[in-house]
Amino acid sequence: MKVLLHSCCAPCATYPLHLLRCGGHLVQGVFINPNIYPEGEEAKRWDVYRDWAGTADLTVVRADVSHREWLDAVSGDLEKPGRCFLCYRFRMRKAAAAAKAEGFDCFTTTLLISPYQDHDAVIRAMEEASDAEGVPYLYQDFRPGYRRSREMARGAHLYMQKYCGCEFSLREGL
Ligand code: SF4
Repeated sequence: MKVLLHSCCAPCATYPLHLLRCGGHLVQGVFINPNIYPEGEEAKRWDVYRDWAGTADLTVVRADVSHREWLDAVSGDLEKPGRCFLCYRFRMRKAAAAAKAEGFDCFTTTLLISPYQDHDAVIRAMEEASDAEGVPYLYQDFRPGYRRSREMARGAHLYMQKYCGCEFSLREGL
């Protein structure tokens, strides 16, 4: 299948890309992460992702979505875990819309690799986005490959951030 892989960052994309390709899928990546704060950090994670993708022969694009738009989307609940669900919902909706617009068979996300994300909430957000946009999502539990993804990232000398992304997580130290 032709799969659009929403990627939160390069380290988390390493193992899912490997697994999806092993499954015979044709993969393209999309970086839709307006949650990342400050702007310079978003640019840094994108640069690392784009450069790594070049070495992995992966075509990637960066979505132009403002942090303001993301803040509006999560403003209904700024506390975890509600905020994170709204954040997933916002990004998955954008990913599903991009998959539909570009004719992909389905979309998925590297958020499914992280033991630090709310796995069930990510799945719920994917389901909602899939229903809303009329494009299937591909669920794979990438978490067994989390440790391997860190090894792959270290092997490629990738920058590994110390917090999830938004200003709230920066303050929370998560
Ligand atoms: S902590 Fe991470 S998942 Fe939760 S709202 Fe912030 S950026 Fe999104």
